[in-house]
Amino acid sequence: MRIILLAAPGAGKGTQAEKLSEHFGIPTISTGSILRRNIQEGTELGKLAKKYIDGGNLIPDEVMIQVMQDRLSQPDCEKGFILDGFPRTLPQAEALSASDIDVDVVLNLEVPEEKIIERLSGRVECSKCGATYHIVHNKPEKDGVCDKCGGGLVTRVDDQPETIKSRLDIYHTQTEPLLAYYQEKQMLRTVEGKEEIAETTAAVLNALED
Ligand code: ATP
Ligand code: MG
Repeated sequence: MRIILLAAPGAGKGTQAEKLSEHFGIPTISTGSILRRNIQEGTELGKLAKKYIDGGNLIPDEVMIQVMQDRLSQPDCEKGFILDGFPRTLPQAEALSASDIDVDVVLNLEVPEEKIIERLSGRVECSKCGATYHIVHNKPEKDGVCDKCGGGLVTRVDDQPETIKSRLDIYHTQTEPLLAYYQEKQMLRTVEGKEEIAETTAAVLNALED
């Protein structure tokens, strides 16, 4: 199964990607995690990415396309994968269509904008393993500490209010056109991102079975 997950930033795409990954036994390829890991490790890619991410901007298409071509050709992707965060622009989608990778389905997770802003504003992330939590809706057992690895929880720089606004604007102008692009190819399925994480997962699995 090769799945693209599409959603506005903060719609809970990453969380659903992890659930699907467990369910199907295939890896989640999250562009955000790849980029943040590179930033932490101070690689060339990380240095370049940091400038864009901290300002709430997208990494240039040609860079992202190259990174993903390399990643998707790794052996662990042979049985399938879940794409979280790629493609995010039409040129990225076109590059993927032109490659020899055949995607089966594009899942659009739809969440109202008020909800997205509320979620992003309360999101914290483990500085060690990248697991995400919400200070109200998905609290860790102990405030400020990661359940999984004990690392410290922090607010991402790009989750500051001004940056959130810019990320949403970019989503509307750059990423939303992909819905029509994949609709046209009859690959698109839309699921409502509900209150409860488990409810959304059930709806997502249901949409994938049809
Ligand atoms: P969430 O993870 O809650 O959905 P998000 O999707 O905005 O939020 P990430 O996917 O973690 O966040 O991505 C963080 C940043 O990395 C983006 O704001 C963008 O700058 C950059 N980025 C990630 N994927 C891409 C991509 N495909 N093309 C260009 N830039 C990207
Ligand atoms: Mg993401």
